[in-house]
Amino acid sequence: MKFAVRSKGNAESNALMLKIRTYLQDFGLVYDEAQPDIVISVGGDGTLLYAFHRYSSRLDRTAFVGVHTGHLGFYADWVPEEIEALVDAIAHKSYEPVEYPLLEVMIRYEHGGKETRYLALNESTVKCVEGTFVMDIEIRERHFERFRGDGLCVATPSGSTAYNKALGGAIVHPSLQSIQLTEMASINNKVFRTIGSPLILPGHHTCVLKPVRQKDFLVTVDHLTLLHKDVKSIQYRVAKEKIRFARFKTFPFWKRVHDSFISD
Ligand code: NAP
Ligand code: MN
Repeated sequence: MKFAVRSKGNAESNALMLKIRTYLQDFGLVYDEAQPDIVISVGGDGTLLYAFHRYSSRLDRTAFVGVHTGHLGFYADWVPEEIEALVDAIAHKSYEPVEYPLLEVMIRYEHGGKETRYLALNESTVKCVEGTFVMDIEIRERHFERFRGDGLCVATPSGSTAYNKALGGAIVHPSLQSIQLTEMASINNKVFRTIGSPLILPGHHTCVLKPVRQKDFLVTVDHLTLLHKDVKSIQYRVAKEKIRFARFKTFPFWKRVHDSFISD
């Protein structure tokens, strides 16, 4: 089996990364940064997001494991003290693959520019550079509302505990093939109206944002932010690809939610 290890870059994570690499090579596994079967991310959830994007072109052949060197993470759920058990399991045991849904982002441009496609593990947000953000929202090819406000966020179930949660979105179990649309500071008065509630769409529904006023938008995909010019539409749906985690122990999602937000 071929493996790679990614670190957050601080001293503690780098030391742990080296230790994991040495242990696994001692067990006869091959270090292969280009084509790993398993990727161990050491740091936080952010580190796993980077690892996901590094290997997003080979998701069908790569499984992920996260170790956290700071606070408990949603993707990084192993503690440094467990790494002997973890490397032993990686080298000698078969794991149960657990798949989580991803978000597909498709941006199309005016004047026939080539469309761009992204996959998000947490979410994608759209904001404008100046003035009130105005966007027509279509769901299943039907006009739903004209949104005015600061911006919009579309999150995956596993991303629902991140930015989505700060926007008042629901926490969604990652076994539900869905995406969630939340508002950022919508304008609501006698003239302008938006639904106000977060919307959760199932796997076969598509949500399309169509610009009304501006054409240039800041679009985020997880930690990546890019300015897109001459945007014609931004389409969101559940991606056909999934992220696969190598699960060597059980750590139920609701326990992770409890331990992260209530108390551990
Ligand atoms: P960051 O500024 O370090 O991330 C912000 C926080 O979100 C960190 O504490 C991070 O955990 C945590 N986080 C990431 N994914 C999570 C998840 N699925 N569930 C719960 N918490 C999660 O930047 P980053 O590490 O590059 O992460 C990018 C993410 O930051 C974005 O995808 C977005 O979700 C989030 N974000 C949140 C807000 C907000 O809440 N208002 C605003 C902007 C961005 P670690 O410390 O373990 O990395
Ligand atoms: Mn981070």
